Amino acid sequence: MNTKLNRRDAIKNLGIFTASASVGMVNPLKAADNNKNLTGLPPLKITKVKSIATCPERTELVIVKVETSEPGLFGFGCATFRQRAHAVVAAIDKYLNDFCVGKDVDNIEDLWQSTYQSSYWRNGPVLNNALSGLDQALWDIKGKRANMPVYQLLGGKCRHAIDCYESAGGNSPEEVVDKVTRYMEEGFRHIRIQMGGYGSTALSKSPDFKKAGFGLERDGYMDAYNYRKGTIEIFEKTRKHCGEKIELLHDMHERLQPMEAINLIKELEQYRPFFIEDPFSPENNRYFKLLRENTSVPIAMGELFNSPHEWIDPMKDLLFDFIRIHISQIGGITPAMKVARLGEAFNVLTAWHGPGDVSPVGHAANGHIDLAVWNFGIQESPNISDKLREIFPGSPFLKDGYMYINEVPGLGVEVNEKLAAKFPLPDIQLNNWTQIRKNDGTIVRP
Ligand code: MG
Repeated sequence: MNTKLNRRDAIKNLGIFTASASVGMVNPLKAADNNKNLTGLPPLKITKVKSIATCPERTELVIVKVETSEPGLFGFGCATFRQRAHAVVAAIDKYLNDFCVGKDVDNIEDLWQSTYQSSYWRNGPVLNNALSGLDQALWDIKGKRANMPVYQLLGGKCRHAIDCYESAGGNSPEEVVDKVTRYMEEGFRHIRIQMGGYGSTALSKSPDFKKAGFGLERDGYMDAYNYRKGTIEIFEKTRKHCGEKIELLHDMHERLQPMEAINLIKELEQYRPFFIEDPFSPENNRYFKLLRENTSVPIAMGELFNSPHEWIDPMKDLLFDFIRIHISQIGGITPAMKVARLGEAFNVLTAWHGPGDVSPVGHAANGHIDLAVWNFGIQESPNISDKLREIFPGSPFLKDGYMYINEVPGLGVEVNEKLAAKFPLPDIQLNNWTQIRKNDGTIVRP
């Protein structure tokens, strides 16, 4: 027996084996050819992007529907910008559809980036809301394709449900305390208190500008002194009657002069607010440093921000404690996740904006991120009427102060298009943002 030859053959055979094993297991060229098999999903194209606009309760809601080359597979996303709804509808139907048809449904990041810069001039509320509708609809479709709720695609649950705050308003401290008591009985652990509306405008009467015939009859009036005095009063009375344990929040809605705002927050510190929201308008962002040097009250900010990039400096400078993003305003789930992750690095918590002019699809998008990010803080609770639930089956719901989303593949909210069409968008603008003036008639920036 020739052992030398045998050893040589064995080495040769081993070489052939390892070479064929490596080629057989991972051949990049073959993998590219068999992309379909590797992803487990057939190729899918966008066939249509269209707006669904509905106004069932004098609130203009705009949704994007993305249809695909797979019959019966489509997604919905929130594109609601109530004050300029017709402009968003035009951005969707006249521009987004042409831009997106034929593109790969699966590549959400690529579609977001290419759509974002497709008009060259970018990053305003009209285009960002249209982009949000597309983005959320693509996440909805991806969830349906994966047979998973969207929060699973974002990393899975960090918590069993979504802790929410409710808003207690009234025209006297007693009315506010009554509302807080009622919401505590319903199970809420966090309650935002306001008296007389934002800036207490409902309690400010007979301004000089009206007597002089300046402005319009419907214009509101804000007496800054009344607002500051009343806000301290509701914090004091609510703490006295409702105890220390309930978490109290307040939205200043940017209406005071920066020094007035800082002085008010310093006075509220003794009542331990959970957060104070929007102390300054974004035009006055440079005052946040001064605010931080004067009080340790937690600050929520950012519902008027447009771009994830606006968060970099305030995060780096440790100016905010809560991210108050309006998710459709910044362009959807994709950018919101980036800001949320940035917040994790700086220990800033989420508190997504969730008012009545977010559609149920948008509330669901809030909820999926709330479940999935570690640095969740609190969620503004959605108030979704029975009529809206008929138009939007699968809407999120509240129980014991928690929000729950519909646990099905995708975002979990569908749109009854026939019913939505019964409440068309009115041709005239129903509501501009509230016009508020000072005593002499000077417009107040919200
Ligand atoms: Mg606010």
